[in-house]
Amino acid sequence: MRFSQNLFINCWLFIFGSCLGSFFTLLIDRWLTQREVVYTRSACEFCQTPLAYYDLCPVVGYLQQHGHCRYCDNDIPSHSLTAELLGGLSCCWLWQVHFWLQPVDIWLLFWLYLAALLDYRTQFVYQGILTTMVVGSMVLTLPYSKIQLITGLIFGLLLFVLQHWHHGLGEADLVWLLVLLFSHNFTWLLEIILISNLLVVIHQQLLRKAHGPIPYLPYLFVSYLLLPLGQLF
Ligand SMILES: [Zn+2]
Repeated sequence: MRFSQNLFINCWLFIFGSCLGSFFTLLIDRWLTQREVVYTRSACEFCQTPLAYYDLCPVVGYLQQHGHCRYCDNDIPSHSLTAELLGGLSCCWLWQVHFWLQPVDIWLLFWLYLAALLDYRTQFVYQGILTTMVVGSMVLTLPYSKIQLITGLIFGLLLFVLQHWHHGLGEADLVWLLVLLFSHNFTWLLEIILISNLLVVIHQQLLRKAHGPIPYLPYLFVSYLLLPLGQLF
C-alpha cells in the first residue's frame, strides 16, 4: 500500500477512535451524573454554558482552548483528552496489526476500552457492560472445544476462590480474565497478565503511589494492544 493511502486511512481511523473516546467520556459523565444521554446538550461542568459544535471536536477542541473553558476559563478535565488520544492512537495501531485480529478481539477491545475508561474514573464497571461483553464473546467463539470448556471451568473456580481470599481482585477484573482465557488460550492469558502487571508496577513506581486501589482494566487494555508486538519482531 502506498504511503499516502496509508496516511489517509490512519487519519480517518484516528478521527474515528478519538470520536469514540469522546463519546465514551460523555456516556460515562452522563451515567455518573444520572443525566439523559441522547437529548441533553453538552455544557461546561463549571459554568453550565452549552458548548458550541467546535468545542466538541475531539482533541482539537481541547488543544484550541489550551485546556480551559472558553466561557469561564476553568480547566477542562484532562481525562477527556486522554480518552480521545488513546482511542485515536489505538485505532491507528490496530490497523497496523489487523492481520493479528480476530472478530472476537475487536469485540473485546471495544468493550475493554469502555470498561477501562469507567474503571479509571470510578473503579467499578456496570453489570450491563460485562453481561453484553460476555454474551457477545460466547457467540463469537462458537463452537467450543472440550479443552476450552474444562480450562475455563477450572480457571473460573480458581479465580473465584482467589477473589474471596484476596479482595484486591475486583469482580470485573475476574470476569475479564475468564473471558480472555475462554476466547484465547492459557499461554496468551499468561502473556497479557504478565505485561499488564509489569505496567502496573512501572506506572505505580513512576507515580510514587503506595496506597489505594488500582484500576486494573486500563492496564489490561494497553497490554492487549501491546501483545501483537511479539508477532511483529
Ligand atoms: Zn465554563
